[in-house]
Amino acid sequence: MPITDHLFTIKSTIPPSVQLLAVSKFQPLSALEEAYAAGQRLFGENRPQEMLEKYKSLPSDIQWHMIGHLQRNKIALIAPFVSLIESVDSERLLAELSKEATKIGRSLKVLLEVHIATENTKQGFTPDQIHRIMADTPLLGIEIVGLMGMASLTSHSTQIEREFRSLRALYDLYPNFTTLSMGMSGDYSIAIECGATQVRIGSAIFGARTIK
Ligand SMILES: *Cc1c(COP(=O)(O)O)cnc(C)c1O
Repeated sequence: MPITDHLFTIKSTIPPSVQLLAVSKFQPLSALEEAYAAGQRLFGENRPQEMLEKYKSLPSDIQWHMIGHLQRNKIALIAPFVSLIESVDSERLLAELSKEATKIGRSLKVLLEVHIATENTKQGFTPDQIHRIMADTPLLGIEIVGLMGMASLTSHSTQIEREFRSLRALYDLYPNFTTLSMGMSGDYSIAIECGATQVRIGSAIFGARTIK
């Protein structure tokens, strides 16, 4: 039962006010079933097809969060059931999500992904772009409920902390926001100190992923 053990250990380090998203990408159904049996209901996936297959095979009270870069031609696969799309990283994607939401008559909750890391490879908006989007007329069928970000991959905790604090400061400018998703297996304790309302934890629960 290592997954159950890891889950309980991690939960004991997270305040009840912080949501735990179990990042189950590349994990077999059996791993998700074990986490589900231990009470986990929030799961994060980064590929639409994989999320759809797992959604069809697992209990319906699971809340599915998309955390990976979403291609516009894959939106329709997950729009009917996804709980939260955390990885909205372009205005074009936002517009396409609005179109799909209108088409299927279901409003979609999203987080805007913010680029806080030093690496250019990471996705996300700049703070200025966030301000512009938030000042725009709201898109039909889209509820922007908060922000998501990933810190630099570094062992310098002061840098990680600086990045998370900057994201929290941006989040605090919008009182209607409810969700600040930051922190992964390696840095979630720092993220919680800096005011995360949700942490996204994969390998610390499920062990290493074999495929990338
Ligand atoms: C994979 C992934 C995670 C989880 O990473 P771990 O280091 O395994 O905890 C969190 N957030 C995003 C966006 C990811 O792609």
